[in-house]
Amino acid sequence: MTKPPLLDVSNLQKHYPIKRGFLGRNAGKVMAVDGVSFTVGYGETVSLVGESGCGKSTVARTVMRLIEPTGGSIKLEGRDITHLSKADLRPYRRQMQIIFQDPFAALNPRMRVGDSVAEILKIHGMKTNKDRRERIAELFDQVGLRADQMANFPHQFSGGQRQRVCIARALALRPKLIIGDEPVSALDVSIQAQVINLLMDLQKQNGLSYLFIAHDLAVVEHISHRIAVMYLGKIVEFADKHTLFADPRHPYTQALLSAVPIADPTVKREKQVLQGDVPSPIKPPSGCAFHTRCPRVMDRCKVEAPKTREVSPGHGVACHLYDA
Ligand code: SF4
Repeated sequence: MTKPPLLDVSNLQKHYPIKRGFLGRNAGKVMAVDGVSFTVGYGETVSLVGESGCGKSTVARTVMRLIEPTGGSIKLEGRDITHLSKADLRPYRRQMQIIFQDPFAALNPRMRVGDSVAEILKIHGMKTNKDRRERIAELFDQVGLRADQMANFPHQFSGGQRQRVCIARALALRPKLIIGDEPVSALDVSIQAQVINLLMDLQKQNGLSYLFIAHDLAVVEHISHRIAVMYLGKIVEFADKHTLFADPRHPYTQALLSAVPIADPTVKREKQVLQGDVPSPIKPPSGCAFHTRCPRVMDRCKVEAPKTREVSPGHGVACHLYDA
């Protein structure tokens, strides 16, 4: 029997009802995530990419069960955790940790950073203060901080160092999967590269898997093994990193990629500027949700939603241009 992937998300949905009036009458729903499926293997980094409002952060929080899914399933190492009670979920929570975009908001400003990490160790059964201090010193060393810095408060660190503290805290329970919800977006570009390199080193040392959420393909290029592009709550294209960058098929992916700088000055790429904003998920466009902004829109795109088709092994696209 083949071993199941570390994380297997199938047809995940998160819909929010819209209530109107004094009686809270149902007036529709926001389809924040609408039928998203993907897997993350052991030691693998899978990135979800798309503009703000495409639902990628909702996927991250739903996978963690920080918010409850409306439908679909989430399996961790083959075990369905979608409907587990809080108590039953606890051992699985140790296996999955999340790093948020804003490290300052993620840390209690009145707590020494060492205590923020110690709190988690204590909750999960590390009894003595000495054991906790030793583990925190080990974690700080892994993320490039000095052990004596555990006595500092968050405001005494730079943005990059604060994110290193959050990474140390995420590693504290030796998880298998770390979900990074835009973990470098709030950092300066030079610091972004340092944090990405740190995450990649930690992956090699600890055999970690990452689900990486970002709005910028340039950020995920270095770290990802596979990439899924999201638009209005759905995955519109997925492939391994090299295939996606060399041969993007969906017009949305092509537009996102056209904005990614190329290191080789002899290669020219024409920048495609997408017109308008992402439509509201309260009333998504009919047919293909991208049709209101697509430079290659056809009549059928306005009425018929495209199905995802494999254009090559492991490369899927939801676009009528690739219908057989
Ligand atoms: Fe564009 Fe039509 Fe493809 Fe949608 S289905 S991306 S509108 S060509």
